[in-house]
Amino acid sequence: MSTTEPATHLRENPYGLARAQLRRVGETFGVDHNLISVLAECKKTVEVSVPVSMDDGTTNVFQGYRVVHNVTRGPAKGGIRYHPGLTRDEVKALAMWMTWKCALMGLPFGGAKGGVVCDPKQLSSRELERLTRRYTTEIINEIGPEKDIPAPDVGTNSQVMAWIFDTYSMNVGHSVLGVVTGKPLAIGGSVGRDGATARGVLYCIRTALQKEGKRFPDTRLAVQGFGNVGRNLARLLSEEGARVVALSDSTGAVVNPYGIDVQAAIAHKAEHGALQGLPGTEDATNEDLIEIECDVLVPAALEQVINADNATRIRAHMICEAANGPTTPGADEILEDRGVLVLPDVVANAGGVVVSYFEWVQGLQEYFWKEYEVNAKLNDIVVRAFEETWTAKERFGTSMRTAAYGLAVQRVAEATTTRGLYP
Ligand code: NAD
Repeated sequence: MSTTEPATHLRENPYGLARAQLRRVGETFGVDHNLISVLAECKKTVEVSVPVSMDDGTTNVFQGYRVVHNVTRGPAKGGIRYHPGLTRDEVKALAMWMTWKCALMGLPFGGAKGGVVCDPKQLSSRELERLTRRYTTEIINEIGPEKDIPAPDVGTNSQVMAWIFDTYSMNVGHSVLGVVTGKPLAIGGSVGRDGATARGVLYCIRTALQKEGKRFPDTRLAVQGFGNVGRNLARLLSEEGARVVALSDSTGAVVNPYGIDVQAAIAHKAEHGALQGLPGTEDATNEDLIEIECDVLVPAALEQVINADNATRIRAHMICEAANGPTTPGADEILEDRGVLVLPDVVANAGGVVVSYFEWVQGLQEYFWKEYEVNAKLNDIVVRAFEETWTAKERFGTSMRTAAYGLAVQRVAEATTTRGLYP
């Protein structure tokens, strides 16, 4: 038997969008079109079948991918996604965005992404472990600390990373800490990795607010998605004194214009498995959340939730992309015309890969840092990249997205030219 793929959440082909974005950036920044043609392709796409013995004695065959976009600046780096709507072109787009993100942050990595078409919520823990170990075995020749280093993404977590680490290590005969990041602390994870993406988002919003002379206590925010990124961000925002007016998960949103008690929301979600029904809030839809009255809208779930259909109705004046690819190019144009500041994913959610880099370095050196060191270094890198992007935006009169992609693409192009095209 094989699993059937449900209708995808994607309205447009993300790889087509990522390539179109690259070509536009190449024109704006005058990057050689031969180089752009090289960068528009993924270096390697591996597609595997992942047969898994289910608890009921049947066998299900899942589809898996690992894509490396580029390794010019260093080994490939990118998350692993378990989602029923995952597509190969989505993985390719996400791999390309990882190349830009690592280059923009100045990390010595290229870009990759992977995943399995499955619904992890429908699998038992034993099934999830068998699926992860078989998927890891199928891609074992592709990954490694000097080649390609996976990390968590939608539908995966530190436990999944632990199984990947163990499977790889058992196969090579010794523990290889640097093969995967986002591991639990007990087996060589980094302090601060779990909340790192959210913390990076927080630093970006803070820096952008400072440009407008504002602070968190004066700010109302709506956060879509209540997983690793959304939940941690909501918690950090409430600790900063910001007013979180809307939250959501895949089943719907909750709203309170006077501010949601985030700790109560975390407890409610843990107890009931969903946010809706949280006392002191009103239920709403994920579509309502996007259009809610607030200062900063933070999509922290899936791609293309902000599109040409709803962009005109967005009332926030700043959007911070905690998710990858949440805004379509059509929406981008509308938002730019309307003067909405969009902090693009490659800057906004890079905190995860930055601390993944720290974890990889700590693993290679077998020397582990303290949490304040991790957070301070994270702040330095994210704020520096934000300021570089802001300066490029002002200088070239473009959006933050074009500026960020422009800087990143130029860096990868320079590395490619300097190394020379083999042979
Ligand atoms: P996660 O699986 O932990 O959480 C995803 C959340 O989104 C869940 O709360 C889920 O209920 C919600 N969701 C799913 N479908 C939804 C829908 N249609 N509408 C609204 N909510 C929906 O995933 P995560 O790690 O928090 O990742 C979220 C986003 O952040 C993704 O775009 C991911 O690529 C990006 N990201 C994650 C990391 C990381 O370190 N985890 C790093 C960089 C970027």
